[in-house]
Amino acid sequence: MKIIQVQFAGLRGATHKGGWTTELEPESAVHTLISIKTDEGVIGVGTVFTSDLLVGAALEVLRPLLIGESAYEPERVIEKLHQNTFWLGRGGAVTHTISGIDIALWDIFGKITGQPIGRFFGGRLRERVMPYASLLMDEPKIMTANLKNLREQGFRAFKIGWGPFGRIDKAYDELLVRSARETIGDDSFLAVDAGGSDAYWRGNLRWAINTSHMLADYNVGWFEEALRPDDLEDFKELRKQSRVPISGGEVLTRRQSFTPFLTGGAFDIIQPDVTKVGGIGEFRKIATIAEEFGVRVIPHGWNTAIGLAVDLQLSSAILSADKVEYCTGSAYVDDLSNTPWQLDSEGYLEIPKTPGIGFTLEETKVEKYSSIKGFLS
Ligand SMILES: [Mg+2]
Repeated sequence: MKIIQVQFAGLRGATHKGGWTTELEPESAVHTLISIKTDEGVIGVGTVFTSDLLVGAALEVLRPLLIGESAYEPERVIEKLHQNTFWLGRGGAVTHTISGIDIALWDIFGKITGQPIGRFFGGRLRERVMPYASLLMDEPKIMTANLKNLREQGFRAFKIGWGPFGRIDKAYDELLVRSARETIGDDSFLAVDAGGSDAYWRGNLRWAINTSHMLADYNVGWFEEALRPDDLEDFKELRKQSRVPISGGEVLTRRQSFTPFLTGGAFDIIQPDVTKVGGIGEFRKIATIAEEFGVRVIPHGWNTAIGLAVDLQLSSAILSADKVEYCTGSAYVDDLSNTPWQLDSEGYLEIPKTPGIGFTLEETKVEKYSSIKGFLS
C-alpha cells in the first residue's frame, strides 16, 4: 500500500484567544490539519500546531519524499523525512509539519491493522485518563464563573494560565489562585501555568521561587512555564527550591532539545506537544528518555481534537501520563467530529479502542473551518 496524496487545511474563523501578548484573532490560523491518502483509499489524519502557510511551504519540501512511499512503515518513512531535511527548517516549520504527517501515518497504520495505535506502543496500561480543563486566567469573577461551569460539565482537574498572572503584582497572583481553589474545591486537581513562552515574559527566577511557595499553600499540582522557555540554568535552580513540581517544554521540538533539561534536572514534568515535537514517534522517544530520569510526561494539548485523540493513545501506553490537556472553549477540540467527547461520572475520558488514532474527523467540519473541500477524499 502506497501513499498517493497529502493535503493540508488551516483552521480559521473560530480560533480562540491564546493569552498571547499579540493576541490571536478568530481568523488566525495556528492549527493545520493534514490528511494522507493511500492507493487503496485508506485515509489518515494529523494535526500541526502552526500556520497553514508554513505547513504548505514545508510540504513543498516533504511531499516528494512521501509520495509513493509505503503506508505500512511510519517510523522508517518519518526518519527518511528527518534525514533529508537537516538543512531545511529543522526544529521549526519542517519538524512541526513532520509531526502532523507522523500522526496521519500512524492513523493509517492503525486502520489497516485494525488496532488502536496505543497498542503498538506497548499495550494499554490504562483504559481511561483524566483530562484537565485548561483555561486562560482572567479577572477573578470571569475566571471563577468559567471554572464553575467546567466543574458542572464534569471536569475534576483544571489548569489556569497566562492572562494577568505574573503581570500585575504578588497579591493579584495569589487572589487568582485562591479564587480558583475555592471555586473548584479541595477535592479537584489544580495546576498553574505562568505562560513563560509569551513574548517578553518578565517573571524571573526570584519571582518564580516566591510564587512557587505561594502555590504550595493552595496544593497546586504543578507550576508550568514559570520562566522563559530557554532558561535552563534558572529552571534547574527553581526546581531545587520549589515546593511544587516544575513543568515545561511545550515549545521545544525534537528529543535533542529536551535532553539538557532532562540531564540537568530542570523539570519534574515535561510537556511535549505531539503536534510540534516531530510526532508520535518522537514523543515516545522523549518519554522514554524522561522515564530514565524519573521525570513525568504530561502531553501539552493546546491544539485540536486530533491532538487530544493522539494524547489519549499515548497516555494508554506511557505510565506517568495520567493526565491529558483539554483545551476548553475551542471549536477545534469540540466541533471537528459529530461524536462529542464524553466525560464519565468521575471526570475521566475513555481511551478509544477503535482502529487508528480513534477519532472520526468530519469532512463538513473541515470545510466549515478551512473552506477546503474534499479533505477526506
Ligand atoms: Mg502551557
